[in-house]
Amino acid sequence: MDAARFVLVILVFEIFEFGFSESDARWKTYINKITEAVQSCQPCEEHNCSCYYRVLENDLLPFRGGVSQALLWDAVNRGVGTHYQVIKNKLYREGNCMFPARCSGVEHFILEVIDRLPDTELVINVRDYPQVPRWMQPIQPVFSFSKTSEYQDIMYPAWTFWEGGPAVWPIYPTGLGRWDLMRDDLEKAARNWPWGKKLPKGFFRGSRTSAERDPLILLSREDPELVDAEYTKNQAWKSEKDTLGRTPAKEVPLVDHCKYKYLFNFRGVAASFRLKHLFLCGSLVFHVGEDWLEFFYPQLKPWVHYIPVKQDLSDLGELLQFVKENDNIAQEIAKRGHQFILDHLRIEDVTCYWERLLTEYSKLLTYQPKKKNNYIQIMRKQGKTEL
Ligand code: UDP
Repeated sequence: MDAARFVLVILVFEIFEFGFSESDARWKTYINKITEAVQSCQPCEEHNCSCYYRVLENDLLPFRGGVSQALLWDAVNRGVGTHYQVIKNKLYREGNCMFPARCSGVEHFILEVIDRLPDTELVINVRDYPQVPRWMQPIQPVFSFSKTSEYQDIMYPAWTFWEGGPAVWPIYPTGLGRWDLMRDDLEKAARNWPWGKKLPKGFFRGSRTSAERDPLILLSREDPELVDAEYTKNQAWKSEKDTLGRTPAKEVPLVDHCKYKYLFNFRGVAASFRLKHLFLCGSLVFHVGEDWLEFFYPQLKPWVHYIPVKQDLSDLGELLQFVKENDNIAQEIAKRGHQFILDHLRIEDVTCYWERLLTEYSKLLTYQPKKKNNYIQIMRKQGKTEL
């Protein structure tokens, strides 16, 4: 056997024996995780929101025994949310709402489906933070947009899908804006920045709503070629302490995030509205921590749709190296995440979830709700209310 033939035989033997190249062997653990996750991922049915039903079934589980009038009023009287009533297909609420734009965002979706809703009443928390700790007895029915497993709030699709999202000066002076319109903008941006054109760099812009973001900002200061991550101001900004000792960075619109291959999501006060937008860039999402949820998160699977990162970022260096050395695999994950949000988090899916949630919740009421005299009727046209 001549030398060349000998080398070829050895090479073929190695491939058969180990099945991996040297680089593959190094990343075998991650590649296996991805393969297994993709194989066990059940695709959602198209054209309805049924893949999220498990979430509302779980959230309503503690109320299987029924929601009595006394229990509902315990939640109303605790003052942790706004009391809404649906009576004869009309929407009413108490006069006060702590964040009118957020209430308006919520009301938009209820009014979209009100013709198909039975009489019902509920307490909707429009603060960021959930309100029903696991230890609470009896558990009160309070609707919140986000929670961790330490809370028993019933998750609803956040106001920000329509309006009331955070105002970020000067890029979103009236709030993040409608999700359906934002989807179109991000799709355009994704087309302008196809995978091959994107910069192979991590990117994050946002304020210090949670110190869990600090390690990424510090990494970026140490190695700006690896990651570009800076703190911006938010409305609570008082001094450079709130931007980790540096001048606040210039805000960067979400469409301009699409220029980068690797985009970071972190919790803020609760879940960050950022996550869903990042997928639409067609970039690879690095989702840090897994505690904070919105209703659609459980259908997004680690390694299938995004790269999961430990809360303390201790695995980040290795993960970035992995995706850089395995660009095709990284692109496949980014594609799957992008496609999932495109197909299953349309504004129709959000409305669909609201309808199913309110319909199933209403079945749990053990009494017939009666309209409160002093409540205001919320009309379809924004800003118009009538007594
Ligand atoms: N945001 C942005 N560009 C910026 C700063 C913020 O697009 O330069 C967006 C961000 O993606 C999020 C929202 O503004 O959707 C609020 O971000 P922030 O970090 O202030 O708070 P979060 O809600 O993430 O805790």
